[in-house]
Amino acid sequence: MKKCNLILNLVIPCYNEEDALGFTKKQLDLKMKELMNKNLISNNSKVIFVNDGSKDRTWEIIKEFHESNEMYVGVNLSRNRGHQNALLAGLMYAKEHADISISMDADLQDDINVIDDMIAKYNAGADIVYGVRNSRKKDSFFKRFTAEGFYKFMNLMGVEVVFNHADCRLMSKRALEGLSNYKEVNLFLRGIVPQIGYKTDIAYYERNKRIAGKSKYPLKKMLAFALDGITSFSIKPLRMITSIGFLLLLISFVVLIYSIVMKIVGNTVSGWTFIVCSIWLIGGIQTLCLGVIGEYIGKLYNEAKQRPRYIIESILD
Ligand code: UDP
Ligand code: MG
Repeated sequence: MKKCNLILNLVIPCYNEEDALGFTKKQLDLKMKELMNKNLISNNSKVIFVNDGSKDRTWEIIKEFHESNEMYVGVNLSRNRGHQNALLAGLMYAKEHADISISMDADLQDDINVIDDMIAKYNAGADIVYGVRNSRKKDSFFKRFTAEGFYKFMNLMGVEVVFNHADCRLMSKRALEGLSNYKEVNLFLRGIVPQIGYKTDIAYYERNKRIAGKSKYPLKKMLAFALDGITSFSIKPLRMITSIGFLLLLISFVVLIYSIVMKIVGNTVSGWTFIVCSIWLIGGIQTLCLGVIGEYIGKLYNEAKQRPRYIIESILD
């Protein structure tokens, strides 16, 4: 039988994952061997661990992996740049070295057996295959509620995202080349990838519990991530401000008429509650609107600087 020459790069961002990596490697050893034996991928396929400026032994562990088996490649970022940038660094490595990339989290919460299905869909002609969680039974109620709320809110705010798809996805070389043309500093891959185009497909899988270590996405980070996603992809909030402005204008007409009538009737002293309430309400709305505008100006500021999204300190390959 002819050997398959499809080179896969599995991209795994790691931040303080010393507790999880041992188990992850064991699973990946088995999975990669299985895929090679089934002749689905080339024997030159690799696993790319991107160390995102971890403060624990993560990089030392990745080095050990690399020394024990050349299938493991390490990309060491110069400091912590966050999940999205670490992922991008790995994907840009894969763009140069592989035919397809599949990205996964270091805790293997995404079932690695979805890889077979993803490759099958790639072979059937898809350039991007989104991994979608078909249930979240094993997530805590809080995580499920906030995470699913995240996708619904994003769509409501005008950001095109695939429901329940995180960053577990297959991308072909030309899709990665497409991605490399998006130079934005405020990186929200889930919003960018659907914009690339090409034929896409979905592979479903069960989401597992984290094997070890703690989630690196507490609520605060999730909220910041959602805000980033919305303000990088949609100007709907700005439009909403305009609508609020119109509404307030209408209300103020009503208030104007009301005040004049009150003046004529001679009831003007008894307006205290109303004035105090209005001051607070208008003040609140104005501050909120300024905040939203500020968000966008902040984005422009960051984009204008065009700073690098990550700096690679060293590569083990
Ligand atoms: N991660 C990263 N840099 C960060 C935070 C997280 O590279 O600053 C990685 C982390 O190691 C993991 C992935 O991003 O591989 C997703 O994080 P996590 O599993 O903690 O998020 P959750 O699944 O709880 O949403
Ligand atoms: Mg996780």
